[in-house]
Amino acid sequence: MLTGAHFLLTYTCNFECDHCFLYCGPSAKGTFTLSQIKNVFNELLKIETLDWVYFEGGEPFLFYPLMLEGIRIATGLGFKTGVVTNAYWATSEEDAELWLKPIVKFKISDLSLSDDLFHYEKEEENTAKVALSVAKRLSIPVNTICIEKPRVEIKTEEEKQEKGEPVIGGGAKFRGRAVEKLTQGLPRREWEEFTECPYEDLKEPKRVHLDSYGNVHLCQGLSLGNMWETPLSSLIKNFNYTQHPICEQLVGGGPALLAKAYNFKPEEGYVDACHLCYCVRLALIDRFPKYLSPAQVYGLK
Ligand code: SF4
Ligand code: SF4
Repeated sequence: MLTGAHFLLTYTCNFECDHCFLYCGPSAKGTFTLSQIKNVFNELLKIETLDWVYFEGGEPFLFYPLMLEGIRIATGLGFKTGVVTNAYWATSEEDAELWLKPIVKFKISDLSLSDDLFHYEKEEENTAKVALSVAKRLSIPVNTICIEKPRVEIKTEEEKQEKGEPVIGGGAKFRGRAVEKLTQGLPRREWEEFTECPYEDLKEPKRVHLDSYGNVHLCQGLSLGNMWETPLSSLIKNFNYTQHPICEQLVGGGPALLAKAYNFKPEEGYVDACHLCYCVRLALIDRFPKYLSPAQVYGLK
């Protein structure tokens, strides 16, 4: 029942945000070529349930002609298309219009703009606001994604904190660089409490992220397989979580079971389920390189 395929068009980004769960930045490698994109579309057409194709990264506007061609192909094939960007290019209303007008032609269905202080330390530097106003004027369906610094949100006794429920608000996901940069000083919970994956349907994935190395991500750095080795449509059709050494455990009992199954030695505690999951996966990367890939999204070379 896959409905969405998201191209990680590139891992390169003009920013290097603390909360980035893919370790993107100016020196991060891994960008699709046009012929790879065309190959992927040949496979996407075989997946009947698919209706959305996204272009994201890294920062997809850094490879503007490639992104545009991808959007053109996707809409031409009848897919709804979306783009996720940090809007660095919207340096003035006039300039933003230059970047957005070619997109209008292809009738994209969603433009998502990162609009928060992680990306822009000062409000006056926030180009996402400019992009938002121009996109609205050009009638592009647009929305903003706002991630704030993590904050503690402990509930009162009457509200009751559910077991495993996150106590940290702000929207940052504790994977990738966010683990390295943002977890210090935050309250932690016992690792045994994290008995389910709170965000992804690993049994019947509805969306996957694709990178230029061939990884088909179910979650960042958790790959279903490699689409350059096995055709993407077959990978999707034949996916069975019980035969995936990481998903089987995560579906069965969350990051806690994953830790137990592979004798991971836990620390004192973890900020949330993703924090534990990411740390266990990082420890298992040499054992399951096919499924825990690419190493660069774990901060490794
Ligand atoms: S969070 Fe977005 S803008 Fe920041 S480094 Fe990652 S991809 Fe770039
Ligand atoms: S628990 Fe693991 S698989 Fe699930 S969303 Fe968090 S990091 Fe991803």
